[in-house]
Amino acid sequence: MAVSFLNLNRLNSELRSGMDAAYARVMDSGTYIMGAELEAFEKEFAAYSNVSHCVGVGNGLDALTLLLRAYGIGEGDEVIVPSNTFIATWLAVSQCGAKPVPVEPDAASHNLDPSLIEKAITPRTRAIMPVHLYGQVADMDPIMEIAGRFGLVVIEDAAQSQGALYKGRRAGGLGHAAGTSFYPGKNLGAMGDAGAVLTNDAAIADKVRKLRNYGSTVKYEHTEAGYNSRLDELHAAFLREKLRVLDSWNAKRRVIAKKYSEALRETGLTLPQESAGGGDVWHLYVVATPQRDALQKFLAERGIVTVIHYPKPPHRQGCYVEYSEISLPIAERLAGQVLSLPMSPDLTDAEVQEVIGAVKDFFQK
Ligand SMILES: *Cc1c(COP(=O)(O)O)cnc(C)c1O
Repeated sequence: MAVSFLNLNRLNSELRSGMDAAYARVMDSGTYIMGAELEAFEKEFAAYSNVSHCVGVGNGLDALTLLLRAYGIGEGDEVIVPSNTFIATWLAVSQCGAKPVPVEPDAASHNLDPSLIEKAITPRTRAIMPVHLYGQVADMDPIMEIAGRFGLVVIEDAAQSQGALYKGRRAGGLGHAAGTSFYPGKNLGAMGDAGAVLTNDAAIADKVRKLRNYGSTVKYEHTEAGYNSRLDELHAAFLREKLRVLDSWNAKRRVIAKKYSEALRETGLTLPQESAGGGDVWHLYVVATPQRDALQKFLAERGIVTVIHYPKPPHRQGCYVEYSEISLPIAERLAGQVLSLPMSPDLTDAEVQEVIGAVKDFFQK
């Protein structure tokens, strides 16, 4: 039996009637940008995330970039980022003219290792950007403690963690502000590009609101050189429908992750660590093994699609040649060993068992 990695067509079709109604509302309203759907979604997602302000923007990269700009971070500043993340975390910093300073992850959690942060702080450091990678929340308490001592801003990259909890609190409301993405494959995904900023800081929310709309709050008055990065009405309407099922979809992801973890314990694979609080939302289920390439090929021959998140860390990318002499051994090792197994709320038990059986066969052959 073939198993896709993430079948968005099948998953989203569960919501067909609600999505059709959302489309009809926008079609009938005649307002396609900055209207009632966006306003409603911002309120609903802020409430869900337990923060006072949500500002919809064009995508996750813009959410992070606009936040850094709102905090006045730019040329000559340094921002601490994980060495193992999707490139957008680094690019947001670079696009503001600041310098990404990589810190290695904890090899077991794959999230920023708080014990390595202090060594990376210089007089130019302005912010720390922890990423809640794969839907597991970074260890925020020590990160906030360090930030407090050094007067740094903490901006969460919450693109992979919609709905995740840390000690009972929602990801996205744990730092000073957060940027999130509603790229279609995320746990809360739009039908195209979309993103949002979350914060309890009214002044920062206002700045982002201005920056996303050409630096303007009064039409044709531009007090800043802003961007065009707005969350369209259509996506806001779709996201309102999808927000209703986010918790139940995340619960289904948890069930699948538990099945994988229980069944694959004896295989010799390094399995993802579950957070103590059980608040993980399993955006991805990422295993690690030195035999990664052979395992991926074996699974592909059985029709099981897996993905590597991510095959090359940012400091090894062509756009960051200035980092090419730097060695970040944990990020480099993980990039050579990680493999994401199929993960989606609509995976059937038969599909999950098919994946489990195939992984076991690989290690028994
Ligand atoms: C998806 C993602 C982003 C960027 O989101 P886009 O909406 O694609 O711009 C940023 N950071 C992380 C960790 C992501 O996974």
